[in-house]
Amino acid sequence: MPEILDQARTQVLESGVGLDQAGVLAVLKLPDEHLPAALQLAHEVRMRWCGPEVEVEGIVSLKTGGCPEDCHFCSQSGLFASPVRSVWLDIPSLVEAAKQTAATGATEFCIVAAVRGPDARLMKQMREGVAAIRAEVDIQVAASLGMLSQEQVDELVDMGVHRYNHNLETCRSYFPNVVTTHSWEERWETLRMVRESGMEVCCGGILGLGESVEQRAEFAAQLAELDPHEVPLNFLNPRPGTPLGDRPVVEGKDALRAIAAFRLAMPRTILRYAGGREITLGDLGTRDGLLGGINAVIVGNYLTTLGRPATDDLALLTELKMPVKALSATL
Ligand code: SF4
Repeated sequence: MPEILDQARTQVLESGVGLDQAGVLAVLKLPDEHLPAALQLAHEVRMRWCGPEVEVEGIVSLKTGGCPEDCHFCSQSGLFASPVRSVWLDIPSLVEAAKQTAATGATEFCIVAAVRGPDARLMKQMREGVAAIRAEVDIQVAASLGMLSQEQVDELVDMGVHRYNHNLETCRSYFPNVVTTHSWEERWETLRMVRESGMEVCCGGILGLGESVEQRAEFAAQLAELDPHEVPLNFLNPRPGTPLGDRPVVEGKDALRAIAAFRLAMPRTILRYAGGREITLGDLGTRDGLLGGINAVIVGNYLTTLGRPATDDLALLTELKMPVKALSATL
């Protein structure tokens, strides 16, 4: 057994203390023959510190495309030739999407907008939309609207948004290679305000942007320092027309190594499979990830690409005897 896995068994599984950057790097560099042991350990850590429940979440796009920022992986940037154009969803459609999401058993409904940060129009849409959903649907509302001012953070709390997603996307040292219209530090500042507001912090990123394996470890350590409630882990699904449109996808075994390593860095977080898993891992990989440290999934479609049908994921959870997390009675 490699030394790092022995160390992780004592430190992470038994004491609940996540691996540091060097430890994560050692896991990311494990030879293939030790990958099953790493996944098994990550699974035990998840069961011990999070339990068997899986959080199911749906997302909807309130405003799609036409974003002024230049995140090189994103087909919603208005600066690239990618085929996603600016579209707004109306409130009745938003409520309908929340109802459909709740019908799958999901407890989280995340409203997403492709913007640098919300303007007055978007905040008004949010106020009306969140109120309509809360009046009609039994589901928790989360939001992902880009960078926020303190005033906007306070307003979202006031609306009853309980979780805010804002991804750091990649480690601090690699970020300028991927985004030039805003900084990693600006993203961190929004996350700091969200954390202090009492909203749950959801923060993750995308692997396969061209970062080195050392930078993946750096990213895991920076996320662990932030200590988010939830970490969505995406794998690049190269979108035609974006600057990263020709990048190769992350190799399946590297993706699984990353899942195990991120779990061992953050034993208590909700580690969520987000976009890109279908092309990186395929059907088998979804199962491997859920038995390797993942404990949350998005059902249905992602923002700009098609995901697996919700029923497939829910059937897999039943087969794996992993109960879908229920809405807490206190909410
Ligand atoms: S990732 Fe977000 S901020 Fe960046 S271009 Fe896409 S929608 Fe805009």
